[in-house]
Amino acid sequence: MGNLERTRLMLVEDERIVAFDLQLQLQELGYEVVAAVADGEAAVRQAEALLPDLVLMDIHLAGGMDGIEVAIEIQSRLQIPVIFLTAFAEDETLVRALDSRPFGYLIKPCETRELHAMIQMALARHEVEMAVEQSELRLRLALDAADLAVLELDLPANQLYGDGRLSSLLNRNCIPIDESWDEFIGRIAPEDRERVVQKLEEAATSGRAVSIEFRTLAGRGRPRILQAHAKAYRGKAGGERIISIVQDITQRRRDEERLRQSSVVFHTAAEAIIIADANCHIVAVNAAFTRITGYEEEAVLGADMDQLLRSRYSADSDLEKLLSSTSGYWQGEVFYHRSNGESFPAWQNLNVVRDETGSVTHVVNAFSDVTDMHRAKARLDRLAHHDPLTGLPNRVLLNDRLDRTIAQAHRTGDHCLLLFLDLDRFKAVNDTLGHAMGDQLLCQVADRLSHILRQSDTIARLGGDEFVILTGDSSPEYGANVAQKVLDVLQEPFTLGDDEIRISGSIGIAIFPEDGVDGPQLMRAADIAMYSIKSQGRNGFSFFSPVMSERAGERMFIEQGLRRAMEFGTLEVHYQPKIDLNNGVITGVEALVRWRHPEQGLIEPDRFISIAEESGIIDRLGIWVLRQACLDTLGLLDAENKQLRLAVNVSVGQFLHTDFPEAVREVLEEVGFPAEALELEITESTLQVIEQSVSILYALKELGVTVSLDDFGTGYSSLSMLRHLPLDRIKIDRSFIVELHKPLGGQAIVQAVVDLSHALKMGIVVEGIERTEQAEMLQELGCEEGQGYLFSRPLPHGELVELLAQSAGQLGNPSRPTLH
Ligand code: C2E
Ligand code: CA
Ligand code: CA
Repeated sequence: MGNLERTRLMLVEDERIVAFDLQLQLQELGYEVVAAVADGEAAVRQAEALLPDLVLMDIHLAGGMDGIEVAIEIQSRLQIPVIFLTAFAEDETLVRALDSRPFGYLIKPCETRELHAMIQMALARHEVEMAVEQSELRLRLALDAADLAVLELDLPANQLYGDGRLSSLLNRNCIPIDESWDEFIGRIAPEDRERVVQKLEEAATSGRAVSIEFRTLAGRGRPRILQAHAKAYRGKAGGERIISIVQDITQRRRDEERLRQSSVVFHTAAEAIIIADANCHIVAVNAAFTRITGYEEEAVLGADMDQLLRSRYSADSDLEKLLSSTSGYWQGEVFYHRSNGESFPAWQNLNVVRDETGSVTHVVNAFSDVTDMHRAKARLDRLAHHDPLTGLPNRVLLNDRLDRTIAQAHRTGDHCLLLFLDLDRFKAVNDTLGHAMGDQLLCQVADRLSHILRQSDTIARLGGDEFVILTGDSSPEYGANVAQKVLDVLQEPFTLGDDEIRISGSIGIAIFPEDGVDGPQLMRAADIAMYSIKSQGRNGFSFFSPVMSERAGERMFIEQGLRRAMEFGTLEVHYQPKIDLNNGVITGVEALVRWRHPEQGLIEPDRFISIAEESGIIDRLGIWVLRQACLDTLGLLDAENKQLRLAVNVSVGQFLHTDFPEAVREVLEEVGFPAEALELEITESTLQVIEQSVSILYALKELGVTVSLDDFGTGYSSLSMLRHLPLDRIKIDRSFIVELHKPLGGQAIVQAVVDLSHALKMGIVVEGIERTEQAEMLQELGCEEGQGYLFSRPLPHGELVELLAQSAGQLGNPSRPTLH
C-alpha cells in the first residue's frame, strides 16, 4: 500500500505506555508517525509545524487544554482531520466530542484492524470535504468575478439569507444577510414590491426560473436597479426554498436610457444627421435627412456620403476636412444636392468618433438647410442696394456701377455719361397733396424713366426727387436724346388719386472723361449743370460747362458764407419807410435783409435770397430777420404815436411750412411785439399752392397779423382768386411804376388793380416810386400808400430811428416831396 506509506500521523497521548504501544501498532500498519505528544499546547504547536495528514487524539490530557479543545483548534484552523481515541464513552463526553465534528471516535484499547479502518475512513472523508470546499470556493470566486450576489429564500421559515455582496447591493455593510422576508422587502422601492412578491410566488408555484427587475431604496448609497434570476427548489423534508442570483444593472439601464434618448434626439432632430463608417460609407441617417435631401434611408445605406450629396466640383471631401483638422471637428458651409438634383447651401458640422485606441470608427455629419438664410441675406443685400420706395438702385449701388463703368470706359477709351435729374417743384406736390401722393409720383416717375432706357443703362434714385442715369459707352448725342425723352415723359400728366398733375424736370449732363475723371467729379459736374437749368427757369437739360462751374462756385460761396453769417451775426436788417401818399406821413417800414461780408462789403438780398431758398437756409434766415426786425422797431412810433407798422418779407418755402404761423407767434410772444403792427409780405408764387396757403393765411389772421401780396402783377394769380383770400393789402410791382408814363403803359393796369383792391376792401401799396410825377400820378389814381427812393432808401436801424425823430413821422407831401 504505497499510499499508506506516505500517510503521516500525529499521536496525542499523555500515557507513555499507551502511546508507545499505539505508535508500534501504527507503524506496523505502515503509517508514518511524525510526532507523539503528551499535552494539548504541544499538540497544537506540532500540528502547525509538521502538518500531519491526521491526528489521533486522546480526550483527557494533562495540562490546560483537553483533547476536544485541541481538536477544534486543529480542525478549524489547520483543516487536519482528528480521530478521538479514548477510554471514556459516557454520554457527556460524547456530546462534547461531537461538537468538534471529529472524523472518528475509538474506544481504547482498540484492535489494529479497527484502528486502520477508522483512519482510512477519516482520510477518505477529509478528502471529500476538501474537494467540496474547493468547489465551493471556486463557485464563490466565480460569483465574485461575475459580480453576482446570492440570495436564498426559505419559504416555510419566511427567512432570507444572502451573501456579503447582496448586502452591499442593498446598500448595507458587507456582511451576510439573515433576516425576515418582511425586512428584506422593506429594502425594495415601494412601487416594485408587489411585482417582486408576485414573481417569487410564480417561481414557487411554477418551478420555473423567473427573472425579476426591481429598484432598491436609497439607503446609504444611491438607489440601484437589481436583476434577480430565481428558481424554487424542493428540499427532502418538503421544505421549499428559492435560490437566486442578483446582479446590479443600474449602469446598464442608465446606458440604455441614454441610448434611447440619443436615439430620440437622432430621429427627431431638425438637423439632418448622417452616421458613416471610417470610410465615409453611410450606416444611418435620420428623418430630417430624408426630409431635407429627399433620400430614404434604405436607398443610401452603404453609399459614399460625399458622392451622394456633393457636386463633383466641391472642395475637400468630408474626410479630408476632418483629417486636416486636429480637433476632429469641422464646421462650415457647403453646397449639397437633393435627390431631385437641386443644389442647396448647408451648414455642416463634422465630427469623428474614435474607439479606445484612438482610431476613427465613425464620422458624424450633421447639417441644416440654410437656403432660407441665404434668401434673407439676398433680400437684405437688395435692400442695402436699392431704394425701398421705387425699387431702383440706390446711391450705394450707383457708386459701385459708376466706378465700374468709368473703369471700363477708361480701358476702352470710350465716353460714359451721367445725367442728374431733379424734378421741378416736387416739394410743392409733397406739401399740397401729402407725402403719400409724393411717393406715388416718385414711383410713377421711376417707372416711366425705366421704360425709356437701354437695358445696360442704370437709373438710380438718390433720395428725394433726385434721379441719376448712368450710361456707359455712349455719345453726347445719346445723352441729349435720353434727356429729351426724360423731359417728354415727365411732361405727360400724372394721375395721383383724383388729381391730375403736371410736373417737369431739370437735367444736368456730365461726360467722362471731359467733365470729370472719377465718380464724385462727374456727379458734381452733372449737379452743377442741373442747377444751371434750374436757375434758367427749369424744365430743360444742359451739358456741363466750365462757366457753370463758376456759377456753382458763386452758389457755394453764398451758401457756405450765409451759414457762417448767421452764426457770426454779420447779417443786418435795413428799413425802408412807407409813406401815406396823401400827406407824406410815415405809416410803416419794410424790413430788408443785408449781408455785411468781411471782404465783399454789403451784399444785397437779390444775390443770396434765392440760394437761401434752394438750400433751405431760408427758414432760419427768415425767422432771424423777423425777430431782429421786431426787436429793432418795437417801441418806434408813427405819426399817430402808435407802434410803427413793420412789414417783413416771407419766402415761399418758409411760408409753406406747416408750423410757420406757430413760429411767428413764438417770435411775437418772445419779443412782445403787437401782432396787429406786423405785416407779412408774401409773393404771388406762394399762392400757387393754394389749399395749403389758405389755411396758413387764416392761421395768421387768427394771430392778428396782416398779410400783403407783394410784387402783384408779376405772377399769374387770377383776380377772382383774390376774392377768397384773407389778404389785407396788395403791393403793385415796381415794373408797372416804371412804365407809368408810357402810352399804353402801366396806368390802366394800376387803375384796374386799385379798383379791384377797393372792391375787395383791400389796401394798396406802390413800391419803387423814384420820381415826384410818379407819386402824383399814383395819388391821383387812388393809391394810398407808397415807398421808394423818392422818399427814402432802406436805412440801417440807427438812421431809421434818427429819421423818425427828425421828421416826427412826416417825410413830406407827394405834391411837395421832401427827402428828409
Ligand atoms: P421786394 O420785397 O420787392 O423789396 C423791395 C426791393 O425794392 C428792395 O430791394 C428795395 O431796396 C428795392 N427798392 C425800394 N425802393 C426802390 C426804388 O425806388 N427803386 C428801386 N429800383 N428799387 C427800390 P432789396 O432790398 O434789394 O430786396 C430785394 C428783394 O429781396 C426783396 O424784394 C425781397 O423779395 C427780398 N428780400 C429782402 N429781404 C428779405 C427778407 O428778409 N426775407 C425774404 N424772404 N426776402 C427778402
Ligand atoms: Ca417786399
Ligand atoms: Ca416787391
